Amino acid sequence: MDIDLEIFSPVQQIKNKLFAERGISVFIKRDDLIHPIISGNKWRKLKYVLLKAQAENKTHLVTFGGAYSNHLLATAAAAAKFGFRATGIVRGEPVDNDTLFLCKLHGMELLFTDRDSYRDKTTLFEKYFGNNADAFFIDEGGASAEGARGCSKLINELGETYNHIFCACGTGTTAAGIINGIHEHKLATQFNAIPVFKNGEFMKAEIDRFLTAPASYQLHTDYHFGGYGKTTPELIEFIKQFVPATGILIEPVYTGKMLYALFDLAQKNYFKPGDKILAIHSGGIWGLLGMKEKF
Ligand SMILES: *Cc1c(COP(=O)(O)O)cnc(C)c1O
Repeated sequence: MDIDLEIFSPVQQIKNKLFAERGISVFIKRDDLIHPIISGNKWRKLKYVLLKAQAENKTHLVTFGGAYSNHLLATAAAAAKFGFRATGIVRGEPVDNDTLFLCKLHGMELLFTDRDSYRDKTTLFEKYFGNNADAFFIDEGGASAEGARGCSKLINELGETYNHIFCACGTGTTAAGIINGIHEHKLATQFNAIPVFKNGEFMKAEIDRFLTAPASYQLHTDYHFGGYGKTTPELIEFIKQFVPATGILIEPVYTGKMLYALFDLAQKNYFKPGDKILAIHSGGIWGLLGMKEKF
């Protein structure tokens, strides 16, 4: 099948008292609206990966993720949409949850693996699919140069230049792609990366491996709220105010942390009056299903 999907991702303004007081305008690019399941950056990251698989006549996508991985779910849905088989190699003991239910509903086969073996994805792929000429390896989270290339196209869609762009980081692929896009268009935009892990300084090396040219950007490492998948009452409170005030659904793993950072930095006078700031809504709202009890 033709791997083409019209990307519809509008930019909307978020207005409130804080931003008005600081004299800044804040916008959000609604990548969460690209597709209900292959949402946000996951579609952008998969596009060139799928084209590569197709060019190599591969019919079976094999990828990796934790039991709540947005990437596993996006791959399952993309595989179904574009006629691939899909296997998800899932970290940890066999479990059932809402994300994995949706993966299976889209026809993905799941293989659970212990946490030690999970670390070495190439060996796992060899073990299960080494003799399978149809199988195509996709790294955890879609981390790849093709993934970054897909994300760099986001910049082509912008009608104006922003002083700042904000995005949450897991593997750093999306960040790298957007930074590459900023560089290719020679924009004077500062990119702000919000790692969702503790000790997020390591994210610099992760981002830098997919940069097409050296570039500077800002890492804000203080917004992890305890680490990956962790939350605090403050973060939950922020989300509970943001969603009804804007009508935009966000979740605690990625977009909640990124927007909390943006609001907190605005509070601390990080921006200059007149600044235009774009937050990337990278999707992932299905992750809320695994966090209901925190609310
Ligand atoms: C996967 C994901 C990210 C992280 O993207 P990377 O390219 O791995 O850094 C950010 N936001 C959401 C909503 C995600 O699902």
